Amino acid sequence: GAGEPLLVVEDMIVGYGRIEALHGISMHVAHGELVTLLGANGAGKTTTMRALSGLLPLQQGRVLFEGTDITRIKAPERVIQGLIQAPEGRGVFPGMTVQENLDMGCHARPFKKKAEYTQTLDWVFELFPRLLERRKQVGGTLSGGEQQMLAIGRALMARPKLLLLDEPSMGLAPMVIQQIFRIISEINDQGTTVLLVEQNAQQALTRSHRAYILETGSVTKTGGGRELLHDPAVKAAYLGVA
Ligand code: ATP
Repeated sequence: GAGEPLLVVEDMIVGYGRIEALHGISMHVAHGELVTLLGANGAGKTTTMRALSGLLPLQQGRVLFEGTDITRIKAPERVIQGLIQAPEGRGVFPGMTVQENLDMGCHARPFKKKAEYTQTLDWVFELFPRLLERRKQVGGTLSGGEQQMLAIGRALMARPKLLLLDEPSMGLAPMVIQQIFRIISEINDQGTTVLLVEQNAQQALTRSHRAYILETGSVTKTGGGRELLHDPAVKAAYLGVA
């Protein structure tokens, strides 16, 4: 209903066999928000994303999407419901063209009308003009930044209600990182709710409405993006300043 968050995570415990990676994390994402889960290497960011996508089972806790309990719903059904994770840049299909990669994005959530397909494709090319220029080039020969753009563009072809992004800045040059984050903000401004997991605190916190700090499998702090950017402990741990 109205005022209800799009995503609610309650006391989520996830592990690998006997190794517990997430020790009961709780968080939410409201409609229209851009929220970051900030964490260092091994904090549990990827584990969180995989659990939200339905690729890893919860050992305890619940996940609600649009007010419905989806804890035991399988990954493909979550995609149909609009919970879409962009693959990492390296996750694009290297032998397929940019166009073919984008078309794979709507495969799991087909369009009912050709006009809607064309409209969405135009929107993706508007956000990423580079992809239009490289439409016929195979994914494997794109630069790292272009592959990341393609990964996000492919996810957008599935018309996400919630877009999950796993470290979109990974391995990219500072200029390209800025560009990617600018486009993520734009996607959010245009109405798509985004949950981002990142290590790049500066860019992610600057752009986020709110953020959660994840440390060794637990949420240790939460607040507004700008607020956390100026938090002394966050600065020391994630921005390399005392
Ligand atoms: P990074 O940024 O380095 O990828 P992360 O924040 O994404 O880190 P995760 O990959 O979620 O962290 O890992 C969280 C914890 O779970 C780590 O202690 C990791 O060693 C452990 N872990 C991850 N994958 C597995 C696995 N397949 N089997 C056992 N333990 C795992």
